[in-house]
Amino acid sequence: MEKKFCPYCGQRVTQKIIEGRNRRFCSSCNLPLYENPIPATCVVLLDDKNRVLLVKRNIEPKTGYWCLPGGFMETRETPEQGALRELKEETGLCGKIDMLLGVMTGSGRIYNTILMIGFLVRNFSGTPMAGDDAEEFGWFDPDRLPEIAFASHSAFIRIYYAAYSVPPT
Ligand SMILES: [Zn+2]
Repeated sequence: MEKKFCPYCGQRVTQKIIEGRNRRFCSSCNLPLYENPIPATCVVLLDDKNRVLLVKRNIEPKTGYWCLPGGFMETRETPEQGALRELKEETGLCGKIDMLLGVMTGSGRIYNTILMIGFLVRNFSGTPMAGDDAEEFGWFDPDRLPEIAFASHSAFIRIYYAAYSVPPT
């Protein structure tokens, strides 16, 4: 979706070539309205059987599809805090970040580009239960994954099992 009005003064925005790109511009504020990716986080969380935790979405987009716990970052929080906050909200679990799995981009319905930051969590406490934005949760073996809502989430799961998963002994 495109912004039609200036978020600062409410005037209808125009287009202007700035720094070689056609950008939205507010002539009243004399300000280019830059479009930047929106950061979001997600968590690959494993149980002691090396199964990944997925939640079933009950909100748009992709209602009814499975995805990793996660969501958009809020201001004044770190990516790690955002990831663990979303984990807690959606599953009730308190987790500890092990490591960064990767950073990638995806596209969204409202935001043109989403910057998706994936973390690995192997240490957590609590009993999972479906919370905000989730109607159900489930543990999945890597060879029996359902269709995942977002390509970036699938990619983080693949990265984990390809590079960091320790086979059971
Ligand atoms: Zn303005």
